[in-house]
Order: sequence, then structure tokens, then C-alpha cells
Amino acid sequence: MLNVPPPQPFPAPGSQQRAAAGGRSKVPLKPGRSLMDWIRLTKSGKDLTGLKGKLIEVTEDELAKHNKKEDCWICIRGFVYNVTPYMEYHPGGEDELMKAAGTDGTDLFDQVHRWVNYESMLKECLVGRMAVKPIAAPKEISSTLSEEKKQLNGMLPEKKVLGASAKDITPSYDWFQTESLITIVVYTKQKDMNAELVIVDCQDKRLRGEIIVGDHSYLVEIDLDHAVQEDLTVNIAEKVGKVEIILKKKDKTHWKMLGQPLEGHNTFIRQVDRGLFYRKCKLVSKTEVTHDTKLFCLLLPKSTHLQIPTGQHIYLKQIIAGTEIVKPYTPVLPFLPLDFKEPSCPDGAHIYLMIKIYSCGLFTQALDHLQIGDYISVSNPEGNLKKSKVQTAEELFLLAAGTGFTPMVKLLNFALTEVSCLRFEVQFILSQPTKDWAGRQGKISSSLLSEFVKRSRKDSKVLICICGPTPFTEQGVQYLKDLGYSLEEIHAFTA
Ligand code: FAD
Repeated sequence: MLNVPPPQPFPAPGSQQRAAAGGRSKVPLKPGRSLMDWIRLTKSGKDLTGLKGKLIEVTEDELAKHNKKEDCWICIRGFVYNVTPYMEYHPGGEDELMKAAGTDGTDLFDQVHRWVNYESMLKECLVGRMAVKPIAAPKEISSTLSEEKKQLNGMLPEKKVLGASAKDITPSYDWFQTESLITIVVYTKQKDMNAELVIVDCQDKRLRGEIIVGDHSYLVEIDLDHAVQEDLTVNIAEKVGKVEIILKKKDKTHWKMLGQPLEGHNTFIRQVDRGLFYRKCKLVSKTEVTHDTKLFCLLLPKSTHLQIPTGQHIYLKQIIAGTEIVKPYTPVLPFLPLDFKEPSCPDGAHIYLMIKIYSCGLFTQALDHLQIGDYISVSNPEGNLKKSKVQTAEELFLLAAGTGFTPMVKLLNFALTEVSCLRFEVQFILSQPTKDWAGRQGKISSSLLSEFVKRSRKDSKVLICICGPTPFTEQGVQYLKDLGYSLEEIHAFTA
């Protein structure tokens, strides 16, 4: 059985986003402390560091002294920020920031804010650099960049001396050419390699091919020696894990070399340590879905190969009042097939986003003002839903409130077309119905959930996916735990 309750808005004052189950919470912000208010303050010319614009070198001892709310410095990736003026504007609350007071908060930051562009948000709070960089370099299990400063000439790069197991899984690459094509081949040795694990972009001779291998990311990043045409092809030999990136030469010249390695070239690091990559996508249509929700259709560049897996989200980035703002959105399908016999396959070139426009929302107002033909930056996908969990589920419950419906669209399509034992049933429960609503009414509660989320057998394999505003998700997860479901059986969609 699949249960999909309908829009059921539950906003806590000042907070309508989703939060991690048991992870980061959002706190209500005081009036006048919104993100837009923060941006205004940073543009006001006020000295936010207390150093009158001077940048200093900060020692670890000095950093440690600034560990109070009224004098709080935090180091992120080697840069030190005075976050005291930001405290009241922080959606995660003062206590969350204070966890990193006077210390290197990089790891903490990455756990909850990896996607937030803090360099832009906190640039007016920059105190300076750490004198001795206290953060560890990204945890690479292989990087050959330093040895590979020389031009790429088609030879397979030498690897650093690695432990036997790391060596076994580290991908490698090679390239060859014909009169009109350049083919870059990546050998991943991953047996179930597929198109969703390969993300390729080629912009102005800069080629970036990211391949996900387990929880690691392998990168080919090259400033190509010659220009190539806009469209590229990706071929995957799934069983042997071989990936081919095929580029069309602009001129039929013979390339003496592939190009110059760029910063991340030939590195194999944990996916979470790889920075988000953005490409500009064109807005091709905007359709009204409800009074406040629109379906945005974005077109990927021809030189991008990107497929967003079911259950994953992307980030949109816009510059608003001079500050880069990033927000997550979950792609949907343009429509759901009526009979669920055939999977509804997106064409690979378009991304559909169903977005609620808030009348006072910072990001969605700017988004709504985009004109057809305008461009917006779209990131690589993120998310940790394992498809295998859905494939092996005997009973799947989808609990959605408000725009928390978006991840359920592709999930529903996937579950009903690929998992034969699942049947579809929907329950609508409204928290603020109109007078003529004859159906169920109420807010999420333990008793409400116990009515609908029930195992049909004591030992059946259950998966419960939940998504909605923070209080809905957090309370929902707690109620489900109270009802005896394990964390293994619950998946909360969060960023
Ligand atoms: P905000 O500026 O954040 O405002 C939202 C609301 O809060 C408004 O009503 C505003 O008036 C109020 N508010 C803001 N600041 C304050 C304050 N200081 N005090 C009081 N009230 C305040 N959304 C979708 O529509 N579709 C999706 O597919 C989608 N997918 C998501 C996926 C993930 C993983 C996550 C975490 C979120 C997703 N969201 C989605 C939510 C989305 O990322 C944004 O949070 C949402 O679009 C609001 O952005 P905004 O900047 O316009 O609004």
C-alpha cells in the first residue's frame, strides 16, 4: 500500500523548510532578522568584524579566545569569520553556531550547510586567514595532480602509492582520437555503473566529468587543447564499468595532447568532500499548478550530461542583492502516467521543478520574476535515498505535506513501475479545509499515523518516506519511532 496524504501545511513561525530527522532544526527568527534583512545589513557599510576592514592572520590561540556569543569567531576552510553580528539571523539558531565558537567549524558546517554559500553570505564578517591552516585537506584516497603538472599526453597517469584496497577501486582514464572525435575513457571497475552516476559538462574548452563510484567521486577536469562542438555523448558499458565521453572536434586537426589538467583533475575523493558544481540552465516554461505553485521547466546546456536520480534534489543559485543565495529543489516529472505501466522517462534535457512561490520569500520571489529565456544556475544532484530500499520494500508509505509532495512524484512513478508487489492508495487529510470539505481533517499525530501506517504482516519489509515543512517531518519521524518503526525503516527527505 502507498499512502500519500495531500498538502497539509504546518509552518512553524518563520520556518517553512525541511529539516533532518534528528539532525539540524530551524528556529523561529525574530522579526527583522530574515535573510533579506541580513543582506541589507551587510550592504549597510557597518563594520561587522570590529576590525574596520583590516584583514589579519589569526593564530589558533587567538581564535580560541573568541568563543562567546558577544565575541564569536569561527574558522571555515582556513578563513576566520566574526559571526556575532550574524547570530540572530542564523536559521539554525545561536546554539548551533556556538558549537563551533572559537574553533575550526569546517566539519560541523559541512554536515549541515555544505550547500550554503557562506563565502558570499559572510564576506563582510571576514576577519582573516588562519596563520596555520588547521583543517585537514580533503580526504583523498588518490590524487595525482601534483605529479601531473605536465601536459596530458594520452599516457595513463601514474598513481600515488596507495594501499591495495584503495588501488583496487581507484578509476583511471585514457583518451584517443579519430579525425573528428575525441574519446575519453574512464575505467571505474564498478559493475553497476549507470548514466545517473556520470555527470559531464563542457564549457569553453573546460571539460568536467564526474563519476560516482560508491560514496566516492572521480573527476576528469581538463582545459582542452582545442575547441569542441557543443553537444557531447556519454556511453556506458554497465557491466564492466567503462565510461566513454565523446567530444566532437570543432576543427579536424590532430590533437597532440588532450589539454592541461585543472584543479580537481584525476582526484578520487569522498563525494561529500567534492564542491557543488553549477551550470547555467535556460528557463523554457513556467506553468501555474495552483494559486501559489508553479512548474518551472529548465533546459540543460547541450554540453551537459546530467540525470537526476529518484529521491535526489538539486540546488538553484541566484545572486540576490549582490549575494549568492542557494536553495534546494526536488525535480518532478512533467506528469504522472495514468496507468503506471510504462515508466515516465524524462528526456534528459529538461528539468521540471514544482515550486511554491512565497509572497515574502526571498528566493522564490526572484525565481518568479525570471523571464522565459533567462538563465539560472543548477547544481549536481544530492541525496541519500537508496533505490534498493524501495525495490526491496513490501510496503511503502509516502507521507507528504505541502511542497514535500515533490520527491514523492518520481518515487511514486519508480515504485509503481518497478516494484510489482506495491499497490496505490491515497489518503487526503487537510489541516485547514474549507467548509465544503467532507474528507479527513487534522494535523500529523501519533493516532492519525497509526490509522494509516500499518504493517500488514509482523515481519513485512516496510519503508516510510516523509517530506514536508520542518515540524511535519520532525514530528512525523518521532511519532513513527514511537509507533515502533526503526530508523532503518524511515527515510526523511532533507538537505
Ligand atoms: P523564504 O525567504 O525562506 O521564506 C519562506 C517563508 O518563511 C515565507 O512565508 C516567509 O514569509 C517566511 N519567513 C522567512 N523568513 C522569516 C522570518 N525571519 N521570520 C518569519 N517568517 C519568515 N520547495 C518547493 O517549492 N519545491 C521543491 O521541490 C522543494 N524541494 C526541497 C527539497 C529539499 C531537500 C529542501 C530542504 C527544501 C525544498 N524546498 C522545496 C523548499 C525550498 O528550498 C525553499 O525553502 C523555499 O522555496 C522557500 O524559499 P524562499 O527563499 O522563497 O522563502
